[in-house]
Amino acid sequence: MTIPTANDYRNIYCVGRNYRLHAAELGNAVPESPMIFSKPTHAVVPMDGQEILLPGGQGEIHYEAELVWIAGRQYEPGMAPHELYTHFTVGLDLTLRDVQDGLKAKGYPWLAAKGFRHAAPLGRWLRYEPAAELRGDIFAMRLNGVEVQRGDAADMVFGLAELTAHVGGIYGIGPGDLLFTGTPAGVGKLAGGDSAELLWRGESVGAATFRV
Ligand code: ZN
Repeated sequence: MTIPTANDYRNIYCVGRNYRLHAAELGNAVPESPMIFSKPTHAVVPMDGQEILLPGGQGEIHYEAELVWIAGRQYEPGMAPHELYTHFTVGLDLTLRDVQDGLKAKGYPWLAAKGFRHAAPLGRWLRYEPAAELRGDIFAMRLNGVEVQRGDAADMVFGLAELTAHVGGIYGIGPGDLLFTGTPAGVGKLAGGDSAELLWRGESVGAATFRV
C-alpha cells in the first residue's frame, strides 16, 4: 500500500485500558480480555498543522495519545502483525470524559463519548517494517510544548499480535482498517487554543491546534 489517505480508511477499532498505569489513573481494572470499541471514519482528521474543531458544551475533552496501525490486506488466522499492517503512526483517541462517565454509569455504549467528528486525529503514516517490534521505542505527546504522555508498546497489556488475533478473529480486519492500541498514563484535558504535538522516537509526526 502506498501512504494511506482518508479514502482508504474503513473500520476503526480501539482498545480500552491497555496500559496498567492509565487504567489505574481512571480507577479502572485491567480487563481480562481486550476491551474493544470503534469509531466512525468521520472521526479521523489529520494532524497536519491545521486547526481542529471539537464539540463544545459537553464537559471535558481528554486527549489519549496512542499507537495506531493500518492494515493493508485481509486478516487470516495466524498472520503476524508485519504481514497485515503496512503503516503505523501516533494518533489521539479524543474522549468526552464527562459524557463517558455518564454512559458508564448507565451501562450505555461509548459512541457518544468517543465517536464524535474529529475524535481521532492522526499523525502522518510511517512505514511498518517487517518484523518491527517497536518495543523500547517511545511515543509521546506534548501539550503546549510540555510533554504530558510517554508510552512504550512493550507496556501494553495485550500486545499487537494478541490484539490482532482477537480483533481479526472476532470482527475481521481488512485493508484500510485502523487499530488504536490504547493510551499510557497522563491523559488530561484539552481546551480551546491548546496545541498538541505527537512524537515518535523524539521526532514530530503531527501537530494541531484545537478550537472548541
Ligand atoms: Zn483510548
